[in-house]
Amino acid sequence: MAVLELTSVERALDRVAEGRTPDAAEATSLLDTPVDRLPALLEAASALRDRGRGRRITFSAKVFIPLTTLCRDYCGYCTFRKDPGEPGAFTMTPDQVLALAHAGARLGAKEALFSLGDKPEALFPEHRAVLRSLGHRTTLGYLREISARVLDETGLLPHANPGLMTERDLASLREVNVSMGIMLESTSERLLARGAAHDRAPDKVPHRRLKTIARAGTLGIPFTTGILIGSARPTQSGWTRSSPSAICTSATGISRRSSFRTSAPRRPSRCAAGPSPARWISSGPSRWPGSCWVRP
Ligand code: SF4
Repeated sequence: MAVLELTSVERALDRVAEGRTPDAAEATSLLDTPVDRLPALLEAASALRDRGRGRRITFSAKVFIPLTTLCRDYCGYCTFRKDPGEPGAFTMTPDQVLALAHAGARLGAKEALFSLGDKPEALFPEHRAVLRSLGHRTTLGYLREISARVLDETGLLPHANPGLMTERDLASLREVNVSMGIMLESTSERLLARGAAHDRAPDKVPHRRLKTIARAGTLGIPFTTGILIGSARPTQSGWTRSSPSAICTSATGISRRSSFRTSAPRRPSRCAAGPSPARWISSGPSRWPGSCWVRP
């Protein structure tokens, strides 16, 4: 009698269909789901979502507060960061932050989302001077003060995404933030290589970011994280193999949201060849992940 052997993909799908949670290895195997089994995968994912969260979608109306566009990192896809003196380079004053937060509150926002570059004071004397004039030595110190003022004076709930944080930073910021976050982006060390997306981005070393997520977990801080799609060749960089389980194990019990963000190249790099991820996502599942944006 012929014995049919189930593939790991089918085993994982069966497990989900039976209402059991796939383990990290099984979940990872689903990344290899063949195109003709995608409907089954989507059905299983929908059933899992319905069992866990139901079909109610919630959202948090927020006002986006770009506290500073200066950053010591130079991620190849970033359109946010600026050097001092570049058009669009600024650090918001407390008055500007509070005016924006009040305007958001008047429009019904509930959350103040602080987004900012990572430790610009480490690179730019101009920023150190700005911080001194505001009574601070670090951007995180300024962020803490302004988060407290937004909370006290506008009633908005601060959520900060300031990059890498020590346990001390997290403990200090949690007093005035309802939640915090950091994009993991990728677990691939190869993106740090010369000419790759995280060349000249010391804060994007994957294990340092995972440490921040783990520290937030230890402190029980509601935390958001996410993966950047398109910064590496998925099947070769390692992020599709390790990121989901890395995020799950690091953020167990604290993850408030995981996001998947697409990227596009800003400066010429090895990332620049091939269609952008937004294009291959919109071109349908048959294009993903076989056609890829990065040439390693
Ligand atoms: S860390 Fe990278 S993505 Fe974030 S602001 Fe700086 S350059 Fe941009």
